[in-house]
Amino acid sequence: MQCIVIFGIQGSGKGTQAKLLSESLGYQHVNIGDLLRDQVSRGTELGNEVKAVIARGELVEDELIFRLIANAIQANAKGIVFDGFPRTEAQAEHLGRHFTVRKVFYLDLSEEEAISRIGARRVCQSCGENFNLNSKKPAKEGVCDRCGGKLGIRQDDRPEAIRKRMIEFYAQTQGLTSWFEAHGLLARIDAGKSVEAVFRILMEGVS
Ligand code: AMP
Repeated sequence: MQCIVIFGIQGSGKGTQAKLLSESLGYQHVNIGDLLRDQVSRGTELGNEVKAVIARGELVEDELIFRLIANAIQANAKGIVFDGFPRTEAQAEHLGRHFTVRKVFYLDLSEEEAISRIGARRVCQSCGENFNLNSKKPAKEGVCDRCGGKLGIRQDDRPEAIRKRMIEFYAQTQGLTSWFEAHGLLARIDAGKSVEAVFRILMEGVS
């Protein structure tokens, strides 16, 4: 099955862009963080196993991620947009073995800008919709535009966990740019641009 990968530091907008891109191409959007959070909130065996790891901002074990993906992929999907996968070299190899990678986009953003964006991030406690107090404000403060639920801060968006997630990103994930570059798949995009501008570049990149 064909796939497109979007990766970048936390706050680089990969979730937003992956959603737009998957809608536009008719691909399935596979957001690993959302899949994990769903398992945690439903209290599944896997969810209970990974709950503390996620809260600390550490990476979940590769084998669990592979299992999660195998269960999430719809057999009739036209293609997949991966968001938050791969994050380790073993995951990149797994991807190469099981999927035809069409393109990999690296959303490049400085650490300072990423920290500032994450500080403004809010998520609906009921439906999981994302907001940002700078770039995507809810119409009514603290209330979800989509379902009226209460907005809050993700546990792993708190300063201690964020620091840990960024350390993990620089240690394990950023290096994948060379891996993908060596395979001729990588396109770097300046993620400091507006949502619309980044999306235009993505669309040009896949056409
Ligand atoms: P995200 O919403 O993409 O920032 O992901 C939230 C958390 O889920 C991360 O901090 C990790 O604990 C876990 N996670 C997401 N994607 C992966 C992955 N590909 N490999 C390991 N852990 C992951």
